[in-house]
Amino acid sequence: MTSLPSSPAPKRLGLVIDLDICVGCHACAVNCKEWNSGGIAAPLTDLDPYGPEPLGVWFNRVHTFEVGEGAASRTVHFPRSCLHCAEPACVTVCPTGASYKRAEDGIVLVNEELCIGCKLCSWACPYGAREYDYDAGVMKKCTLCVDKIYNETLDEIDRVPACVATCPATARHFGDLGDPNSEVSKLVASRGGYDLMPELGYAPTNKYLPPRARRASLEKDTPAELAPAVPAGSGGFLAWVDRLLSG
Ligand code: SF4
Ligand code: SF4
Repeated sequence: MTSLPSSPAPKRLGLVIDLDICVGCHACAVNCKEWNSGGIAAPLTDLDPYGPEPLGVWFNRVHTFEVGEGAASRTVHFPRSCLHCAEPACVTVCPTGASYKRAEDGIVLVNEELCIGCKLCSWACPYGAREYDYDAGVMKKCTLCVDKIYNETLDEIDRVPACVATCPATARHFGDLGDPNSEVSKLVASRGGYDLMPELGYAPTNKYLPPRARRASLEKDTPAELAPAVPAGSGGFLAWVDRLLSG
């Protein structure tokens, strides 16, 4: 089994994803695949991509759901990737030390040299964020583009994860969620952003911002599943997402 850092730094790098303005275009997923196909977790294998049962490694996947019924329904796009949890059982169950959490910034990574492909980490992750590479026989996952965000050969403005750089709707934000004064922390505070399935105790670093209330003329038709979620901090909408992830 693998230990977590005994004295982690306060810095916690992560993403804030705005479910109110994500349009489900998958640009983040595609640019993630593009960058990481040449990055430290490369290659991101695709097997039988045009066949009846395509199988590929995608660190970021966007799921689209219809919430509610009829005129009161609402389409919600839900990007899903590793949340770089503070208490990640995916790390502590790892028998070889391949999965680890960095003390300096909280990023959770896999050392493929040590991975034996036992898949225990994917069983331990309640968010479905681990991606097994059947070609290489090792587990892979979102690296938060660790080979991009610290890359001093890039202009500073480009040192953000590929998904954040490409989002045409600016639904994705990157920063230090361990710093209450960072832009991402302020965004979370002002919009009622919060954790997925906090009751599990993984303390995810990434946060989601719930959809805003509809215009007053439409509010009476707001689906029951969405209605309690809109006020900041109510927990309703993401409780609905939690139910989807738990299903
Ligand atoms: Fe581990 Fe899953 Fe949390 Fe990522 S989201 S750190 S893979 S438990
Ligand atoms: Fe949503 Fe942005 Fe990803 Fe498009 S790129 S699916 S808008 S998060």
